[in-house]
Formats: sequence, C-alpha cells, structure tokens
Amino acid sequence: MTLTKAQSIVDKLAKQFGVDPPLVNFKRKYKGRFPASSDYVWLDQTIRLAGWDSTEFSLLHEFTHHLCWINMKHVTHGSKFYWMLVAVIMVYYNGNYTSRNGGYSWANEYINGKKFYKKLLKLSIEEILANIVK
Ligand SMILES: [Zn+2]
Repeated sequence: MTLTKAQSIVDKLAKQFGVDPPLVNFKRKYKGRFPASSDYVWLDQTIRLAGWDSTEFSLLHEFTHHLCWINMKHVTHGSKFYWMLVAVIMVYYNGNYTSRNGGYSWANEYINGKKFYKKLLKLSIEEILANIVK
C-alpha cells in the first residue's frame, strides 16, 4: 500500500467518524508480523506503518486507536477498543464485521481480539449495533 493510498483511506474514515484525520507515515521499524508492524502514536496522532507492504488491516486497527484516543483517551486493547473496531470495519467493509467474504482479518488480532470475535459471532446484528460506541 502506498502512503498516498493509506492517507486517503484514513482521511475518508476520519470524515465519516467526524474527527480530524491522523497522519500516516512509514517510520515504523518492522518488528515481525502484524500487528507489530504498525502502531499509533497518540502524542502526535500519527499512524506509523512499516512500509508499502503494510495491509489495510493494520491501518484499520491503528485508525481505531485514533478514534479511541480522540473520543475516550483510551489506549489499550480492551472491549471498548474492539467495539470501536467493529464500528470502523462495518463502515469500511459495508456492514461486514466478520472475516468472511474478504472482510477484516480477525485472525491477525491480539488474543483479546480473537476472543472478542468469537463472542461477536454469537450476537445478533441488533445486539451488535446496540453495543457499538457512538
Ligand atoms: Zn493496537
């Protein structure tokens, strides 16, 4: 993914969520597989990707940190984070919150995220919508 493409994705998402967009750069030192290949620096609201081979999954994950920081000053991978991630991926994948049909790669999430996804799959769409952080 090019830097221009990555920035345009977060610009669009930021507009949809009504926040100022984070800046994206390629300054993350690569430390192995996703999600360690990217991070979010709340101090200057920047998403750092390892480079052109970074995926949209890491970008969506880090953008979720941006929203959690802006809206809640929340920085960890707790359930607030994962509910916000559901909101982000539902926007990005047109309502698809699962890994099916080319959706978000939950398999690459941290252990908390994998557990969250297992529970998520058991909920109805009404329950999911009721839980999404507004
Ligand atoms: Zn994270």
